[in-house]
Amino acid sequence: MDGQESRQTDVAIIGGGVAGLNAARLLVAAGLDVRLLEARGRLGGRVLTVDATGAESGDGFDLGPSWVWPKMQPVIGPFLDELGIRTFAQRGQGDVVFERMSREPAQRYAGGREEAGSRRIEGGAAVIVRELSRRVPPGSILLATTVSALSHEQDSVMITMHRDGVEQTLRARQVILAVPPRLAEATITLAPELPGDTAALWSATPTWMAPHAKFFALYEKPFWLDDGFSGTAQSMVGPMLEIHDATTLSGQAALFGFLGLGAAERSTLTEEAITQAGIAQFVRLFGPDAASPVATILKDWAADPLTATATDAASLGHPHSGTWIEGPWADMLHLAGSEVSPTEAGYLAGAIEASRNAVAEVISVLSMQSS
Ligand SMILES: Cc1cc2nc3c(=O)[nH]c(=O)nc-3n(C[C@H](O)[C@H](O)[C@H](O)COP(=O)(O)OP(=O)(O)OC[C@H]3O[C@@H](n4cnc5c(N)ncnc54)[C@H](O)[C@@H]3O)c2cc1C
Repeated sequence: MDGQESRQTDVAIIGGGVAGLNAARLLVAAGLDVRLLEARGRLGGRVLTVDATGAESGDGFDLGPSWVWPKMQPVIGPFLDELGIRTFAQRGQGDVVFERMSREPAQRYAGGREEAGSRRIEGGAAVIVRELSRRVPPGSILLATTVSALSHEQDSVMITMHRDGVEQTLRARQVILAVPPRLAEATITLAPELPGDTAALWSATPTWMAPHAKFFALYEKPFWLDDGFSGTAQSMVGPMLEIHDATTLSGQAALFGFLGLGAAERSTLTEEAITQAGIAQFVRLFGPDAASPVATILKDWAADPLTATATDAASLGHPHSGTWIEGPWADMLHLAGSEVSPTEAGYLAGAIEASRNAVAEVISVLSMQSS
């Protein structure tokens, strides 16, 4: 496709995270022609599962989402069943550790249990991405394709995007925007512009977990289990605030924690400094065996411009709700990212719910147009 040529499709989907991929597979199943446009060179968005070397893996460590809660999120169980994906309980059995102050040793408490219905995906959350993408024809997915502008024309939308530094266009009858609203408002130009209230809602909507960073230490064996620990810890000292066992079902031992340092503070530190502080904390919490990980992994989502904006890096908060599309765009543009989910905003379950809703809207509009 070159800059002069306009390709056409029934539905263009912007963003290849769980929401965009779920929308794509539902629309393909409904017999529609789709193009999924993804800025990164990989699918999954905030879902990222890697091996010890940091390479993408279908059996590894979840740098984005780790858990689903089927007992509390009605949408998730049937969705995973439909895709043939299995889950297992987050390990919680064993002692838990609480670190209150730097000047006193961490306290050990007996009797952790399985963690309140938190379940992990067998193989890692990337298995969801793999199973969804298998249901979309490869030719419908364009990676490394960054959408920069949408122009509302009489009965279609003209999409401007960049691939390999080359500007291209695509005409679509309908567009699903499966990008977090705040990021979309900051990076994609709409003509005509969104009404002021709508633009304000998009930019005021925090992208869930975008300010966060996860640190992993991988070990030859889960020594903390042999010592009676569960791997669960909480700390008011840091650098990590909340720590869990991250050992894979296939037995690769690991601990991970959410960093408590804010994004601005993290940006002033080297990865080496954060890594050394993280290992030192694992030693304080779980003993000297923690001093020698076979590998460490740090993922800072606030530093990832395809997830977080500068506003996300500076603020926490839960997604808002409201009327996401108004004005001239209402009949052609549909938001599908997790943040717009009515009941599970921010979560994987929200990405599934919101993308289903967007697909239902698209099918309804297209069927009205053809009747
Ligand atoms: C550290 C962390 C921990 C989390 N833990 C959990 C958890 O335990 N359980 C849970 O349920 N949820 C969790 N979440 C949230 C979960 O990851 C999200 O709800 C879900 O992945 C969102 O999917 P999405 O498709 O809506 O958005 P995203 O995954 O953000 O996908 C958006 C996609 O759009 C692409 N994109 C952006 N701009 C453009 C553009 N201009 N052109 C084209 N493509 C573009 C991006 O590259 C990305 O692939 C966590 C998230 C993080 C970061």
